Amino acid sequence: MNKRNRNLPGIVVTVEEGQRRLVATRAFAPGANALIITEAPIVSAPANIAPAYQAWSMVRGMLADARKLKWARKADFAATPQPWDTEDQAFAQEIESEYGVATQTVQLLYFAVSANHIAFWDEKGRLAGTGLFNTLCFTNHSCAPNADVTPIAGRRGTALRAIKAIAPGEEITWNYFSPTDFSRAAFTDRQRLIQDVFRFRCRCLTCQRRE
Ligand SMILES: [Zn+2]
Repeated sequence: MNKRNRNLPGIVVTVEEGQRRLVATRAFAPGANALIITEAPIVSAPANIAPAYQAWSMVRGMLADARKLKWARKADFAATPQPWDTEDQAFAQEIESEYGVATQTVQLLYFAVSANHIAFWDEKGRLAGTGLFNTLCFTNHSCAPNADVTPIAGRRGTALRAIKAIAPGEEITWNYFSPTDFSRAAFTDRQRLIQDVFRFRCRCLTCQRRE
């Protein structure tokens, strides 16, 4: 196993067969010991634009800023290119000619954003938008998670907090659709929703039992 310690107390990002995971190195539990990490997004889109355009807004944000583009390439976010729908194809072509980049680059950035974006909140706890984060983005989805993302009191960004007891060595996961209650949704409905919004097939432990 290839371990990358990002100097975070209590957690480590591990890489196994190309799959990144956030793993606890100490115990967490709901309540006073719930906070796992807080982060502000590196690349973001505001909540007041339509969800369909948020991903494109982030792709533009990276192409317009060499440092953010370099960061995103280095982070090597999980991205599974999928066929474009007509509207997305039009956006992709527009951006390709605007920034003079290859179709492949636009595709990769778009699907990296689609699969990894996470909500963030302002200092008053209001939903501020969605973004890509240094460490939070390597936390996998689970339909029966042990953590959740929440506002940070008094600060812009996102906190990851334990919602169940987490033991050292355990993978930390959250439900990308929080606060939707996935435990009551049918397997096929969950898979459809995850595919539509985040464009991946869920292989969390709960879904593996149903495959
Ligand atoms: Zn699942």
